Amino acid sequence: MAQIIDGKAVSMSVKQRVKDEVALLKEKGVEVCLAVIIVGDDSASRVYVNNKKKACEACGIKSEEYALPAQTTQQELMDLIDELNARKDVNGILCQLPLPKHLDEKMVIDAISPEKDVDAFHPFNVGGIMIGDYTYLPCTPAGVMELIKSTCYDLKGKNCVVIGRSNIVGKPMAMLLLQADATVTVCHSKTVDLKAIASKADVLVAAIGKAKFVNADYVKEGAVVIDVGMDRDENGKLCGDVDFDSVEPKASFITPVPGGVGPMTIAMLMQNTLRAAKQQNNI
Ligand code: NAP
Repeated sequence: MAQIIDGKAVSMSVKQRVKDEVALLKEKGVEVCLAVIIVGDDSASRVYVNNKKKACEACGIKSEEYALPAQTTQQELMDLIDELNARKDVNGILCQLPLPKHLDEKMVIDAISPEKDVDAFHPFNVGGIMIGDYTYLPCTPAGVMELIKSTCYDLKGKNCVVIGRSNIVGKPMAMLLLQADATVTVCHSKTVDLKAIASKADVLVAAIGKAKFVNADYVKEGAVVIDVGMDRDENGKLCGDVDFDSVEPKASFITPVPGGVGPMTIAMLMQNTLRAAKQQNNI
């Protein structure tokens, strides 16, 4: 039987730390502020943005929402980003992805000032992660590292396998594990004999986007299993990339979905926003 890693509890303690520091900054006359841009009416994006706003509220961070219509032009969006980049009272800027198809996401990511890029998507911040010299870590992989830390599991020398190589999860996840002295293998859709590789992992991170893809055959006895996936099962119910019921008896630690990595992503966004405010005010 695995120990369940409680992402809700860990995220609450991260948010409490952030809240305490935000209050201290307020005493020094600094109000921490996150600007959130949402374009169009994608329902999943709306839920994510609402959750981020709620987390800001809980941490005492001011959030400003810029809800733009779906037909917003690239120029209008770039003008808004320029304006927010220039404002001293805005510490972090986040543009909720995906954007409507006619908008160029890369151009948007590149336009957000690296100092305000609390998602850590800008190439400058991505480069920082590669060389281990960074201000911001991407929220989801940073959240996974916090979850592993909460178990007191020592990653040094461990065999870690990450399934997925996206720019926002898989690749930075591998970098962070490497920086923690793990030996890391990154797998993807062209990997040959994924089961054989995954089932040798001491730590298995699934970031695939396929409901319940990882079953017990992919998991070594006693492995730490981290499920980044946010998928829907055949009944439309939220689930992860890991088939929890089959994997849980074999793992030593496992994250549930919901209540695992998801809450951590938002907590780390709060932490990055706080960090941005401190850095911009030389604190
Ligand atoms: P993505 O950009 O679609 O990347 C998926 C990765 O999985 C790709 O690298 C892909 O390989 C690999 N893959 C797909 N099918 C595979 C297969 N059969 N065998 C091995 N690898 C396979 O997705 P993402 O943005 O990284 O997100 C992954 C999951 O995490 C999704 O469920 C997403 O909703 C979730 N997510 C959750 C959070 C959170 O806060 N909890 C945050 C972000 C994402 P190729 O590169 O070869 O195509």
